[in-house]
Amino acid sequence: MDFSIVESIRKKRDGQAWSAAEIRAIIDGVTRQTLPDYQVSALLMAVYFQGMSPEELAVWTDAMRHSGVVLSHPQGRYRVVDKHSTGGVGDKISICLAPAVAACGVKVPMIAGRGLGHTGGTLDKLEAIAGYNIFIDRQAAAQQLEEIGLFIIGQTDDMAPADRRLYALRDVTGTVESIPLISSSIMSKKLAEGIDGLVLDVKVGTGAFMPTRERAALLAETLIGIGRAAGCAVTALLTDMNTPIGRTVGNALETREAIDVLRGEGPADTVALTVALGAEMLLLAGAATSLDEGTAKLQQVLSNGAALERFAQCVAMQGGDADVCEHPERLPAARSVVEITAERSGVVHAVSPRTVAMASMATGAGRQRAEDQIDPATGVVLHAVVGQSVATGDVLATLHHNGRGQGEAEALLRTAWRIDDAPVAPSPQIIDRLS
Ligand code: URA
Repeated sequence: MDFSIVESIRKKRDGQAWSAAEIRAIIDGVTRQTLPDYQVSALLMAVYFQGMSPEELAVWTDAMRHSGVVLSHPQGRYRVVDKHSTGGVGDKISICLAPAVAACGVKVPMIAGRGLGHTGGTLDKLEAIAGYNIFIDRQAAAQQLEEIGLFIIGQTDDMAPADRRLYALRDVTGTVESIPLISSSIMSKKLAEGIDGLVLDVKVGTGAFMPTRERAALLAETLIGIGRAAGCAVTALLTDMNTPIGRTVGNALETREAIDVLRGEGPADTVALTVALGAEMLLLAGAATSLDEGTAKLQQVLSNGAALERFAQCVAMQGGDADVCEHPERLPAARSVVEITAERSGVVHAVSPRTVAMASMATGAGRQRAEDQIDPATGVVLHAVVGQSVATGDVLATLHHNGRGQGEAEALLRTAWRIDDAPVAPSPQIIDRLS
């Protein structure tokens, strides 16, 4: 195609739509690096202000998806599905969910991410397990999927390379917070997994990237529209992110909590979210004919050890120490634990997810810069959650640290709890369901 990038930038700047051929030429130029950073940056800023129509977005995402390798899977009994979360605090759900759904006979080729901003990443949590390899070769991954129904790995350089370049430029040009750019980034990577169905956990609240329900619903609808255009069925749950998920924030601590869920234990909110998302996955896969049936199947595999066994197989096949499933005390533990106590009595009205996340990051559980080394052992355990009554001096949280950032983390944690006199009910976990 005869194509002028300057003309394309002008068109978008002035609110005109791009043709499909023009979009494919742009993404080709991004991928092959024939377009310089300054022109791609200008183009991204034009998209930031003018957006893209659903038709443009479908082509844009398809071009990004096909900028690299797209996985394909042999036809099986059920459709192949995955889950994506837009990022939360204490969000270890993927680690319990993928093995549980696989134990119900569905294939889950999960390509997970690292921590982003204040939110943790599934890969960092899994790497708390000694030896766990997030980069297995494609053939081994396909074999693993066939044998045990799941893998949880990292994105390789040859998958959706256009997204990698676009994301890096967005990060330094103030163009991350654009719903079309976020949606195409997420969906290009998920669709490259070769899935037939996707369940989205779109977080809403102070600990989420989308603080309001309106923005979260718009993001969910955009993601669903892209999926539909690509022939992938998508269901989105809008879920509450005004308080951390479960009782732990930090890598090994969260992995341990995920193992508790897989053992049929674990905090009620974490189990409930795992089951709700899993039931949606089973429905999309055709492994359940109703959410009630999906829920019952998941509860069974969580209580009879089948989900835990899948996880142990996954860890072993990816080179990790599968004994952590029976002996979670083998996970790294911090040298010191400090208690944070209540300065007054009353009822816990709020626990700020961002403040808890920042405290955990201060101890080394997250990255301030991409090259930072994670400390897998550190983080925060919550002892008092929303709706709970506390007396002065009761332990609200314990900080697990290895010396780094202790003072800063303690100071942050002392501000994270809001305690008041009136009783309060925790807000509903699932806010809406869109499909
Ligand atoms: N996650 C992604 O993969 N891409 C975005 O743009 C934002 C969150």
